[in-house]
Order: sequence, then C-alpha cells, then structure tokens
Amino acid sequence: MIPREVIEEVIRRNDIEQVIGRYVELRRAGSNLVGLCPFHSEKTPSFTVFRNTDSFYCFGCSAGGNVITFVQKIENLDYVSAVTLLAKNAGVEIPDDRSGDDRGPSRDRVLRMNVDAAKFFRACLLEGDDAAPARAYLEKRELSGATQQHFYIGYAPGRDRLVSHLKGLGYSEDEMCAAFLASRTSKGRIYDLFFNRVIFPIVDTSRNIIAFGGRVLDDSKPKYLNTSNTAAFRKSRSLFALNYARGHCAERLLVCEGYMDVVTLHQAGIENAVATLGTSITEEHARLLSRYTKRVILSYDSDEAGVRATSRAMSILDGVGLEVRVLTMSGAKDPDEYVKKFGADAFRRLLEDSSTGFEYKLSAALSRYNLADTAEKIRAVREATEIIAEYPSSVERDIYTSRAAARLEVSAQSLSEDVEKQRRAIVRKYAAGEMSEARSVAARYGDRINTEAVSNVKAVSAEEAVLGLMLIYQEYRDEVARGGVELSSGDFRTSFSRKVFDRIMDLNASEGGFSTPLLGEFFTPDEMGRIESMEMRRRELTGNGMDVFRSAVGALKSAGREDGGAEGSLSDLIAEKRRRLDEERRKRGLGR
Ligand SMILES: [Zn+2]
Repeated sequence: MIPREVIEEVIRRNDIEQVIGRYVELRRAGSNLVGLCPFHSEKTPSFTVFRNTDSFYCFGCSAGGNVITFVQKIENLDYVSAVTLLAKNAGVEIPDDRSGDDRGPSRDRVLRMNVDAAKFFRACLLEGDDAAPARAYLEKRELSGATQQHFYIGYAPGRDRLVSHLKGLGYSEDEMCAAFLASRTSKGRIYDLFFNRVIFPIVDTSRNIIAFGGRVLDDSKPKYLNTSNTAAFRKSRSLFALNYARGHCAERLLVCEGYMDVVTLHQAGIENAVATLGTSITEEHARLLSRYTKRVILSYDSDEAGVRATSRAMSILDGVGLEVRVLTMSGAKDPDEYVKKFGADAFRRLLEDSSTGFEYKLSAALSRYNLADTAEKIRAVREATEIIAEYPSSVERDIYTSRAAARLEVSAQSLSEDVEKQRRAIVRKYAAGEMSEARSVAARYGDRINTEAVSNVKAVSAEEAVLGLMLIYQEYRDEVARGGVELSSGDFRTSFSRKVFDRIMDLNASEGGFSTPLLGEFFTPDEMGRIESMEMRRRELTGNGMDVFRSAVGALKSAGREDGGAEGSLSDLIAEKRRRLDEERRKRGLGR
C-alpha cells in the first residue's frame, strides 16, 4: 500500500490541468476548463476540469474524479500503477528504497525535524529561565494556557540553542538550513534563524508541522518571520489554522491577516478563522479554500494597505467561484483588538452584517481600466453590468446600478437596461442547467454503477445528497462520528452508497483524516466518477449549512421507508427534482 502522504504529494505535484492537457485540448470557461471528452465521442465539449477542486467531470458520460482517476482511465492502469506513473512524472519518491540523494533532506526528514524543533520551542516557553518576557507577552495578549497548548505555541531563545539541540538528535547543519531553522553567516558559521520570538507552528490538514511563524516580543523588525519555502512547505498554498478551521467552515470561512487574530478568535470560540502566512492571498490559497467552503469573509486590517489587499483578494477568490464578503470594523484596527474590546458576541454580529462586497468588487473592477479612454470605459461598463446582474434582488440591483452609473458617469437608465439583459441571460443559463439535471436523472435508469438505484429512486437521491455533503465538509463527517447526527451504514439502502459511507468514516477516523482522492484505492474509476458527481452537484448548490445536512439525513431515513423496494417512476423522480430546483430557484431569486 502506498502511504497517504505520497498520494497527497502526487496529487499536489501533478497539476491536473497540465496532466489532462497532454491528452485533451482544454480551453478556459469561467473558472473552469473545458474540452472534448476523451472517454466518449462528442462534438461539443462537456468534459470539464475544475481548477478549484483539482477534479474533472464529463457531463456527457459521467466520467469523473481526480488526476489519478484520469490517468487510470486513459492509460487503463490500476490505482497503484497510476500513482506510480504520476509519482515518477513529478519526481515524488515512493518510499522503501532508502536512497541518500544530495538534493537536500526529504519532506519526511524536514517534517520530523520540525516536530523536534516544535517540542524544543514549547519546552523553552514552559521551562526556560529566559522565556519570562515571552510568557509575559502572551499573557498581555490574553492567551490562556489552554490556547497556548492548543496551538502549541513556543519560544525561540536563539543563541544557537536550537542548532545544538538538533545536532544532538543527529540532524546535520545542511539539513537544518534546508528546513529554514538555521542559516550560515558569510564566514560559514551556523546560527538559529528564529531568535527571541514567540513561535507558532504551522500545521497542515494532515496534521504535519510544515513550518513556523515567529513574532517578535517588542517593536523590532521584522515583526513576523516565517519559514521560507522548504521541501515541506509552500507559503503560497498554506494557511494558518486551517487544520482546525476545516471542521467549522461549511457555512463560511474567515480569512484574517495575522496569527494573533486567528488565535484570539479561536480562543473566543470563533473557530472558522484562518490566516495567510506573510503573503497576500494567492490563486492556490483560493483553490484550497474553495475545497472547504463556499463563502469567505475577509477581515483585514482597516488601514490603507489592508483595503488594497482586500480588493486584490476579492478578485482572486471570486475567480474560483467563492462568494466573498468583507468585514468592516469600527473602533478597532483588527479582529484581535475588536474581540478584546467588544467581546466575541459583538464580533459574531459583525460577521452576520458583513457587506456583500459590492463596493469592493466594483472598485476592483474599475481600477483595471482607464476611464478616460472610451474603449476601456465601455469594457468597464460591461464588467460593472456583469457584477450587478449577479445580485438576485431587484432592489439591490437598482441601488448598485445608480451607484455604478455615478462612478462611471453614464446614464443610470441605460446601465439598468444592460443589467436586466444580462440578468435574463443568467436566468436562461440556469434553466439550461436544469435540463442537464433532468437528463442526469434519466441516465440513472440503467445505472451501471449503483445497480440498486432503479428500485430505490428516492433513497438514492437522498443518499447522494448526504454523501455529497460528507465528501466536502469535515464538519459533517465529525458530526456523524460524534453521534451529533445519527447516521450509520444501516440507513443506506443501496450497497454502493453504504460502501462509500463506510470508507468515508474509516478514513475520517484514520490518522491523517479523509480526503476524496484516497477513495481511489477502494473504488473503480467509474465509481470514482459517480463519487465526483455527488460532490460536484452539492458544490453547485448555495445553502449547504448544518440544517441542510440534518434535513438530508432525515430525508434519507424516511425515503428508505417510503421506497420500500417498490419501483419509483421516472416521471415521479423528475417531478421531485423539479420541485427541488424550483425551491433553489426561489432562493436565488431566479423567478420564472
Ligand atoms: Zn465523456
């Protein structure tokens, strides 16, 4: 069996767009890529690559999955051979042959060194004679002992004490430098990189300590020092506290500027907060975030730099299809200060009020154009039109139209006409999506993957809703594991769904936790396609909150009783889908 770290690394290092691009000519369509499906013959592209989830799906033949599934299917390989091929492609070593290469320490070695360093920093904070100022600092920031333990906060005394500690454990100087724990002077003397700083270990979602962030105790510079890129860490795709927040972010996720904001918020019970690490949000961050949530609230400092960072982040997050909101605070410069001044409940209210971000979106869009130039101004108007047309409420559209018209110095009436035209196009597109839903329902008759689907129509529909939510959200997997939502294998009527459920729960309980690609070991590529479609269909819906999950589980339990093995008719099924879509349509304000 190939270790999960290797599988995760193989997926990380093989860009799905590049791999599939070798076989399929892809072109951009919004935040996704489309092309002609290599698995069935077609003239118009229905094969889609989703950049934000690193997955693919064909709306024509239901092939789908991740990069490993794709290689399995196209090269006709079993799971292990496909992983091996991709590992070779990306220069990922599949362990067992201990090879000492000279390209620096392996990811594993760096991770082990990080654990030893974290333990050392932690011990220094708790026991070090010279750590009194660090302890005083954390106390001043009002971080409880429990919080400090939870985040495993430590103290780096410097003076090469880490270097000699790690030497004692058998690490070489070169390894320490490669792990960004030490560096060399021009004369070649080695020294601790983190010196007189409070240390925050950065932990990934597989619970590895991948890096460290260090904050000074006073006002000296730089205020924050973070690990640079190493074999175990890429700052452009790592987020502080995502390991904790991933279990609390089905509804929304809060992105802050600094660790201190995040630590304070978690301590106050607001556990869906993360921070980037000494960098502004990248496209990789955005894609990572979109795996865990649909809605992001940005909470940057309210200074000028913060405002600029906010509008940049908005367009990046928008680009992967996330709904973005912006938190506006008054009376405090950052969340840390706000919570301490006004309390956690006040901050929660702030979250509810977070603006829809129209002003940010508009400013970000307009800043790209020179409005004095007629051609550019026309493009700016078109972009403003597209932004406004996305709002379901006609009142909101009216308000934003007049604001944008004033900014652009065009007539509000003509802008409004453009907006409404664009709005009708969106509604039409939605209707087309509805057709393809109905087709996919029809396709279930003659289901080759879940052969029991035909006689358990309602149950399968509910099963796939529940599984879709569990595939995406850690929160729901944990809730089921804890027994907060009562759900067990026995509630699933079809053995395919039951098997998916069991594997999800097994992996969720395993050390590194669950991720969809890991299912590839237990399911055929065709089955992975079905799993991908469950996940994808849920992602397309807006409300995926706990109430939705509970009602889906309720529907599953009662559907099981209603179907009772009797054959449901296709027209019943389509009627039910239509009801669900109508409701969705109402929620989004897409009236007929
Ligand atoms: Zn296809």
